[in-house]
Amino acid sequence: MAAPEKKLDKSKSGLRMIPVNGNDSSPFTLSEPPWVPDDECPECQNSNCRARFDFIRRRKHHCRRCGKCFCNKCCEDKSPLPRMCFIDPVRQCLTCREISRRETDFFDKHLKILMNGGCFTVSDSDVSPEEGSSFFCKISPNHRQLLFEGECDKHEPVQIEKIDSLQILTSGKDDEGNTIAGGLAICYKDSTGSSNVVQMVVEQGTNKKPGQIWIAAMQKVSRQK
Ligand SMILES: [Zn+2]
Ligand SMILES: [Zn+2]
Repeated sequence: MAAPEKKLDKSKSGLRMIPVNGNDSSPFTLSEPPWVPDDECPECQNSNCRARFDFIRRRKHHCRRCGKCFCNKCCEDKSPLPRMCFIDPVRQCLTCREISRRETDFFDKHLKILMNGGCFTVSDSDVSPEEGSSFFCKISPNHRQLLFEGECDKHEPVQIEKIDSLQILTSGKDDEGNTIAGGLAICYKDSTGSSNVVQMVVEQGTNKKPGQIWIAAMQKVSRQK
């Protein structure tokens, strides 16, 4: 599956790079908020600031993420906002900037790990996890599907938006007594709308580290949705 074709889009907030086909939009995308109209905010909407706006001294700025109205001091810095597909950093209020900063980690790091994929023993919930088949599992380039690539067996892709919950399957403890994440049980709705569980266990006998890192990244997915 190739990366989705993208095009430039100019919005009131800046240049964005969005998929040509709307069906290719990432489930982690946020749409741009409506802006609070200028005449509805006589003062900065940061409750710790509340500076009055007047024509001469203070210009109003809208936070690109929440759409609220702020004075320059409270909305000065520009930060990356990958969830709205902006190419360049955009103005954000202090609260939104902090949320976006945490998300950047997910987009720069965890999503890439998920797209690179890992080897897992995959089974449905009616068999024990060890009895599954070997698959290379990864998130599709448009972030919409979890794909299972097997040599002989097939498994239906899981739609990321149809994941209801994730549960970590543990496999003993390491030398320091920390529980080891050995796999993942994903509860999701399949293409017919019924609930299913797919179990993914890090392949035995291989270097387990990449699989465990993949599982840790997958856990972040549910927090982004
Ligand atoms: Zn904001
Ligand atoms: Zn302010």
